[in-house]
Amino acid sequence: MYTFFADNKNSDFFFITSPEELKHFRVRRIRIGEKVNLIWEGNLYTAEVVKAEKDKVLCKPLGKATSRKPSIRLYVLQAVPVDLSAFEEVIRICTELGVSEIYPLITERSFRKRDVLIKKLPRWERISKESMKQCRRPWFLVIHDPVKLESLSPPAELNFFLDSFGEGKAIKNLDFKGASSLSLLIGPEGGFSEREGELIKEKGFIPVKLEPYTLRVQTAVAVSAGLIVNLA
Ligand code: SAH
Repeated sequence: MYTFFADNKNSDFFFITSPEELKHFRVRRIRIGEKVNLIWEGNLYTAEVVKAEKDKVLCKPLGKATSRKPSIRLYVLQAVPVDLSAFEEVIRICTELGVSEIYPLITERSFRKRDVLIKKLPRWERISKESMKQCRRPWFLVIHDPVKLESLSPPAELNFFLDSFGEGKAIKNLDFKGASSLSLLIGPEGGFSEREGELIKEKGFIPVKLEPYTLRVQTAVAVSAGLIVNLA
């Protein structure tokens, strides 16, 4: 079953009216009578397509689908990789894993042009929305404006730093059960500098090590956020 964003609702129908969603609807060649999933105001619904016009599609609600939220509020603080396509992958991964908020960080070895990153925000939001449809997540990933590492404060109840220097605790030895929020600070492809490593610890982030080797940014995000969401 395909998923779309509904743009409006009255007592009888959902309406799909936005050009992007109408385009997606046509590309999928959906027929009258077919069932679809609809994302509307943070919930996922099943609905039946009853009418498809040039500028709107009408769907009859059939029911609310269950759409669980992770028990923990997860923040990913990700130094933007120099290869910006890796950051796009991080956005998809965070969307799929139920991460609540992502902060693009500027560090010594990250992508550093803030004005370029600001212009990327609409594209990142689009990527996250596509991913929401793919994984049927009905609530938005908050994508913050880029922040410099120096001005970052630990945002959560528990704040972890993925430390490829190798001094951190193993995930299995961390106690995060019952925490309401947790942040994961992750470096760019080239890692953090030693000076940054010190600064991060001074800010109160707890070093965590993933086994067994040095991971790519995308793998580090997927493993750490994936484990925490599934074990919390
Ligand atoms: N070039 C760096 C690796 C950077 S990997 C080096 O040789 O150390 C990018 C980021 O992913 C790291 O900054 C870290 O936050 C995270 N990461 C990768 N592998 C990791 C591991 N095994 N344990 C903890 N964090 C890791």
